[in-house]
Amino acid sequence: MPFDPDCVFCKIVRGEIPAAKVLETPTAIAFLDIHPIAAGHTLLATKEHYPTVSDVPAEVMGAVAKELPRLAQAVLKASGAPALNVIINSGRESGQEVPHLHFHLLPRQAGDAVRVRWPRQKYPGDEMEQVRRRIAEAVG
Ligand code: AMP
Repeated sequence: MPFDPDCVFCKIVRGEIPAAKVLETPTAIAFLDIHPIAAGHTLLATKEHYPTVSDVPAEVMGAVAKELPRLAQAVLKASGAPALNVIINSGRESGQEVPHLHFHLLPRQAGDAVRVRWPRQKYPGDEMEQVRRRIAEAVG
């Protein structure tokens, strides 16, 4: 099983440090974020150590993502929130602090203090088509 002995989430998976665990499968583990943005802020992680979305095998991602609907229902029910943000930070520059793949399930309330807003741009000229072609070719 890929693991990193220095990784805090690997230590949680191996029971070396405690966590407020809410779900565990052979592939996935979910526990409360220790510094929540809102009560019920939950992390759903791979058990194996993969740093980012582009490192994880597709079948592992599938097995972990499969848990999102029932975990989202449980977090909504338990937190009383009407909505969630489901976010993956993937790579240091995206804000990822723990390089062990995980989803954030972030309970949201109308008018809460959380701001998930990005500045929007426009593609100049034919750049949108150029970018589309580069990604489509890279996807293969
Ligand atoms: P990210 O920035 O997407 O890598 O998010 C990492 C998250 O892990 C942060 O929200 C931290 O509060 C959380 N975190 C770090 N250490 C622990 C821990 N021991 N138990 C639970 N959550 C943790």
